[in-house]
Amino acid sequence: MHCQTIVLGAGIVGVSTALHLQARGRKVILIDRDEPGSGTSHGNAGLIERSSVIPYAFPRELSKLLRYGLNRQPDVRYSFSYLPKAAPWLLQYWKNSAPAPLAEATRAMLPLVQRCVEEHDALIEAAELGAMVQAKGWIEVYRTQPALAQAVADAQALKPYGLQFEILDKQQLHEREPDLSANAVGGIHWLDPKTVSNPGGLTRGYAALFVKRGGQFIQGDARTLRQVASEWQVDTRQGPVTAPEAVIALGPQAGELFRPLGYDIPLEVKRGYHVHFHAKAGAALKHSLCDVQGGFVLAPMAQGIRLTTGIEFAASDDAANEVQLQRCEAIARQLFPLGERTQDAPWLGRRPCLPDMRPVIGPAPRHKGLWFNFGHAHHGLTLGPVCGRLLAEMITGENTFTDPTPYGADRFEH
Ligand SMILES: Cc1cc2nc3c(=O)[nH]c(=O)nc-3n(C[C@H](O)[C@H](O)[C@H](O)COP(=O)(O)OP(=O)(O)OC[C@H]3O[C@@H](n4cnc5c(N)ncnc54)[C@H](O)[C@@H]3O)c2cc1C
Repeated sequence: MHCQTIVLGAGIVGVSTALHLQARGRKVILIDRDEPGSGTSHGNAGLIERSSVIPYAFPRELSKLLRYGLNRQPDVRYSFSYLPKAAPWLLQYWKNSAPAPLAEATRAMLPLVQRCVEEHDALIEAAELGAMVQAKGWIEVYRTQPALAQAVADAQALKPYGLQFEILDKQQLHEREPDLSANAVGGIHWLDPKTVSNPGGLTRGYAALFVKRGGQFIQGDARTLRQVASEWQVDTRQGPVTAPEAVIALGPQAGELFRPLGYDIPLEVKRGYHVHFHAKAGAALKHSLCDVQGGFVLAPMAQGIRLTTGIEFAASDDAANEVQLQRCEAIARQLFPLGERTQDAPWLGRRPCLPDMRPVIGPAPRHKGLWFNFGHAHHGLTLGPVCGRLLAEMITGENTFTDPTPYGADRFEH
């Protein structure tokens, strides 16, 4: 089989890239070892996070660092045996979280974040997936007055970005979420974001649109990628596929391809879990809620109420560890009347992260016809379509809607 562009990885990033290339007339074959949307894109919290204009930085305050040092926090956990290996990456992340580089990362990410909702909207409409998407924002919930006061100050500081939000006192919060317990003392309702009640289903719906428009999806192992003459070739269940161009959009597994090709890109994973619950009889969750102090999200999903955790630093392939999930569940139960879990084993996902808090989008510096689109960290669902557009514009030689320089892989070339 021959096509113009092979896209490797059918998560939200790969599927969106394939759609945008196809819209520009490219004959594209999309390849994944599993069904589309089976990786990290399956289990996230479903926020199309228009309000996250500042990237998720490493804490710099001594008090916070000391607290995390005890490894008892619900929002971040680490495996002691993994720390020595992760230390160089964490040090880079910490350095990049200083005020000046963080401001630079914020500037770099803004053009992508600003377009995230409209890029999803176009695909949602074309794929007729409107029933899966809610346009009522999400609520940050606080359990203490000092934490709420700090969050209000932080939100006010974001006013120059033009974000829409409402500060909720206890009564207003309980009017919006009547089943929250009295532990919730107030919140901030972010109004620009949208939420998805089945992120894996959304990715599969986008992939179905790609196929409906004439694209081909084939199962195969991206690790078989090789250069044959001046082209790229991959083995699939339907035989080898060859094309002059290939895109690596393998999310947390991208390193399995770029490392053997000689690229020293510092891609790490921040692991995170989800589990679903019934609500207790008569209770209903109306919005997606984020308990920032607990570092978890409670989201009404097609499968039940989904609790997603914050960050776990552990080797990508280490066995799942329920400690963090249990800490979050205990807090969540004090906040909302959760019933029984609806699944035995929790889902474990891996956020693909770079220490400078920007994805890698653009050409492989030393391999003609090879392109990268990975490393979307905490916001891959949010950024998939807009980053798919950007890479497709680059590959087809169009004027790009924003300067792609900040996302180039060459920033890691020594
Ligand atoms: C707990 C949690 C909550 C999150 N919440 C949010 C949120 O609310 N909003 C948000 O924007 N983001 C969120 N994220 C982040 C988001 O889920 C990811 O950034 C995003 O899904 C990454 O998409 P991707 O397409 O790059 O990777 P993936 O979805 O992982 O896709 C990679 C694909 O590559 C395939 N693959 C891997 N290896 C091979 C191989 N050898 N051969 C063939 N195929 C292969 C996989 O099967 C997979 O389909 C969350 C993440 C976690 C873990």
